[in-house]
Amino acid sequence: MKHLIILGDGMADHAVDRLGGKTLLQHADTPYMDLLAKKGRCGRLVTVPDGYSPGSEVANTAILGYDLDKVYEGRGPLEAASIGYEMRPDDMAIRCNIITLADGKILNHHGGHLSTEDGTVLINYLNEQLGDDRVQFIPGIQYRHLLVIRGGNKHITCSPPHDHPDEPWQPLLVKPENTGTGHASTENTCEKCQQSVARLSPAETADLINDLILRSQSLLENHPINQKRKTEGKPMANSIWPWSPGYRPSMQTIAEMYPEVKTGAVISAVDLIRGIGHYAGLKIVVVDGATGLYNTNYEGKAQAAIEALKNDDFVFLHVEASDEAGHDGDLDLKLRTIEYLDRRIVEPIYNEVKTWDEPVAIALLPDHPTPVETRTHVKEPVPFVIYHPGIEADGVKEFDEVSCVSGAYGLLQKDEFMKVFMND
Ligand SMILES: [Zn+2]
Repeated sequence: MKHLIILGDGMADHAVDRLGGKTLLQHADTPYMDLLAKKGRCGRLVTVPDGYSPGSEVANTAILGYDLDKVYEGRGPLEAASIGYEMRPDDMAIRCNIITLADGKILNHHGGHLSTEDGTVLINYLNEQLGDDRVQFIPGIQYRHLLVIRGGNKHITCSPPHDHPDEPWQPLLVKPENTGTGHASTENTCEKCQQSVARLSPAETADLINDLILRSQSLLENHPINQKRKTEGKPMANSIWPWSPGYRPSMQTIAEMYPEVKTGAVISAVDLIRGIGHYAGLKIVVVDGATGLYNTNYEGKAQAAIEALKNDDFVFLHVEASDEAGHDGDLDLKLRTIEYLDRRIVEPIYNEVKTWDEPVAIALLPDHPTPVETRTHVKEPVPFVIYHPGIEADGVKEFDEVSCVSGAYGLLQKDEFMKVFMND
């Protein structure tokens, strides 16, 4: 049997007055999701373990059955994988925004909506000027880049720039985490290769990054791209701002955990999800026109999943659109993204694979709710359905937050979802 997970990012929601007290999944017209629920078995899953905030990278890693305490390394390493940078055991990778500072404050976290073209020029310029054996800047997308510090220490406290608009930037510079040891240089052991790794201390790492931030400011300020932005009255992209550091995650691959999986694939427009897929041993399938928004190439993603399933045993298909609509607080748009997922992803895939000789097990779930009324991720269990030919139905008739409460699987956590999906 092959296995496909269809993940609608942020698709779960709360009861909404405008919908007569129904949730969006209850209200939306979703005949194919409901068909899976009728024919399959349902339940709910805790996707955000205690002690973690409900980020998509946390929830998606947990859904794939990983223990966050053992594998979670922040955004930097996931983005490194997505960009195609293979981290060494002694590397520390950290997300490196290019932001706008004005009047001593953080004006925005995106450098005035920097284009990928300009962002790449600026980050490559910084790498020429500031890069060395220890420090490397690697271009990503728009304002979102990567800083790799060989021997860097992740035990530092950084301030995500989107959390601090209009705040003075100097008090937000990087600080060493108070680890209580106070030793100068530290060594640790790479869990994967069991070699000891020489690292800077947290304080040395914080000093190094703060020095890079300060030196980036004069370099960026005087760069022709920023001089042009200045004359055009646009916000300048005039400082780097690193945050979310981590080491190379030591994750077992899906194939190592589930021997029936020889090869697998991940399909997502989102770099964090691609990064998780990479460390899980899945190949990254890129779909033209996959935007992460409601206008994404749904048909292309469905077709890519069908093609991948012809060769691979395990496919993780991630669709971001509902989450973005939730962040926008746009009820009608979020309903539309749910109906698109039903008719343009679930329907074509279900109708194709039901004719195959080798059966395909399909799981459908969100990673977390992004309610249109709160407009941010919340930490609550999500509904899920598992269907494959021959599975015994559990009496649930519709796929939504309320119906799945009475599903046969009850409330699962940790790797229980992957275990029942792969083994039932
Ligand atoms: Zn998410």
